[in-house]
Amino acid sequence: MTSDQLKHLIEAVAKTVIAEADRLTALDQAIGDGDHGLNMKRGFEAVLADIDGLARKTLPDAVKSVGTHLVMKVGGASGPLYGTLFLTLGKELPAAPGVADFAKAFAAAFDAVKARGKSDLGQKTMLDVLGPVRDALASAVVDPQLGDRIKRIATEAAEATVPMKAIRGRASFLGERSIGHMDPGACSAALMISAVVDCLEQAKA
Ligand code: ADP
Ligand code: MG
Repeated sequence: MTSDQLKHLIEAVAKTVIAEADRLTALDQAIGDGDHGLNMKRGFEAVLADIDGLARKTLPDAVKSVGTHLVMKVGGASGPLYGTLFLTLGKELPAAPGVADFAKAFAAAFDAVKARGKSDLGQKTMLDVLGPVRDALASAVVDPQLGDRIKRIATEAAEATVPMKAIRGRASFLGERSIGHMDPGACSAALMISAVVDCLEQAKA
């Protein structure tokens, strides 16, 4: 990946999250404290402010640094969790990963978030998107439809949090009343994953 491609990739993820901040906030207003959009926007604005520095790094180091920015700026429950996700991805990724490397790094990052959040699948959190994407990557055959498949799985997994009852995070305070709304962190995870896929597909085209 060239420095320009890396810059483009990080910018695409950051701009997607920032553009969707109102939607993330609205979701968090329904079942949390209404700050998820603002938290994520603040984190990715810090990422954008450092974009030239990030683009000069190797892919693993840049991903780690994104994690550090998120830990420092996002706050809430999601800051340390997304920070852990990116820090672990950065630690595990080789400089020029193939799909198998990416699958392995993503699986390690999933485990790290799960450990950090003391959470698991089915509890209506970001893990409910990250888990299905990890599984899809683990069994991925590299074909032209892989990107579309990953995007569909992430989007459907976020939708699938709507009927779930929250067991972790602030939404769990609502008990049964958390049912019927999409989890904000599941939504942000699906948005970031889709942005990565779109950007990598563009780079291939
Ligand atoms: P806070 O809940 O502190 O206000 P945010 O609103 O930024 O933080 O993030 C909320 C999101 O974080 C939730 O929608 C959920 O996806 C995720 N989350 C919260 N707690 C956990 C946890 N223990 N494990 C995994 N994800 C969690
Ligand atoms: Mg919140």
